Amino acid sequence: MNIPFIDLKTQYRKLQPSIQQRMNTVLEHGQYIMGPEVRELEERLQAYTGAQHCITVASGTEALLISLMALNIGDGDEVITTPFTFVATAEVIVRVGATPVFVDIESDTCNINPYLIEHAITEKTKAIVPVSLYGQPADMDEINEIAARHGNIPVIEDAAQSFGAVYKGRKSCNLSTIGCTSFFPSKPLGCYGDGGAIFTNDAAIARVSRELRVHGQSERYVHNRIGVGGRMDTLQCAVVLAKLEEFDWELERRSEIGNQYNRRLDEIGVTRIVQREDRTSVFGQYTICCKNRDEVQSIFKERGIPTAVHYPIPLNEQPAYKNLGSKQQTPQATQIAKKVMSLPMSPYLTAEQQGEVVSVIENSFLR
Ligand SMILES: *Cc1c(COP(=O)(O)O)cnc(C)c1O
Repeated sequence: MNIPFIDLKTQYRKLQPSIQQRMNTVLEHGQYIMGPEVRELEERLQAYTGAQHCITVASGTEALLISLMALNIGDGDEVITTPFTFVATAEVIVRVGATPVFVDIESDTCNINPYLIEHAITEKTKAIVPVSLYGQPADMDEINEIAARHGNIPVIEDAAQSFGAVYKGRKSCNLSTIGCTSFFPSKPLGCYGDGGAIFTNDAAIARVSRELRVHGQSERYVHNRIGVGGRMDTLQCAVVLAKLEEFDWELERRSEIGNQYNRRLDEIGVTRIVQREDRTSVFGQYTICCKNRDEVQSIFKERGIPTAVHYPIPLNEQPAYKNLGSKQQTPQATQIAKKVMSLPMSPYLTAEQQGEVVSVIENSFLR
């Protein structure tokens, strides 16, 4: 049985007419840069998340970078984040000249531990960047409250994996000062290339981010600040607009499939990422923990079923990051990085395919 890790082909087959129609419209009108679909998508995403402002950008990485730039974060500043994430989260902090301060994670959700954030705050702390890992929002209210208590430190949610997730009735991306997401093809809402978006309810941050996105330009050839070339292509916006048509249906499927994995793996007795009751994960990844990961992965490989590791090395142990700033011990991240393994997951995973994945786990754990 062929089981893709993320089934983008079946999605394309289902959405082909509207994707092609949307893309054809762009090819015909010819406004490949900042065409009408860019604003149309931003308005749709504002309505979807409830955020007052949405600024589409070239990627999720660019969204995080522009957000830090909009907050004037730079040399000598510290930014608190998690070591258990994709490298882009910390990369942009170093890019603007600031120092990432890594705080350990909760062992059951793998999201940043809010109670450890407070101990890491200094007078140099200029932002906190929690990641809503595997599609489940971090404990944003707790983090916002700590940030407020320490002089209103801005909070940037890295929601690259969690677009569509809900936290206490509110949508991911609209849970803090700024929310950043990615439309990389394999994310819950993806395009066919690179793309991303910044969300905020702060009009000043929105205006500055819009300028930063186009070389710090307020009007043509007037450059108010040093910016970047960070626009999202009109064609990619058209793809996301088409994919939004089925997005709510896809979220339902994600939830059904994720909960089915939960039930079956709990029966088998496999440790897995835990979802908290006050939030809804979009299961951007479906991740389990196994002590004998190499062995389990090789059994999957023999059966032709793809698996992945998100992430094998915490960022504060990476060659390029381990000597930056003060050394924070993050024992949970160190331990969990050795055990996590992600299973095939997408709205198009069939019950048959899922049954096959579960049966491989059942057999490999019994060995
Ligand atoms: C994918 C991802 C990013 C980067 O997004 P790109 O669009 O690939 O630049 C940042 N943070 C996290 C947590 C991600 O998963």
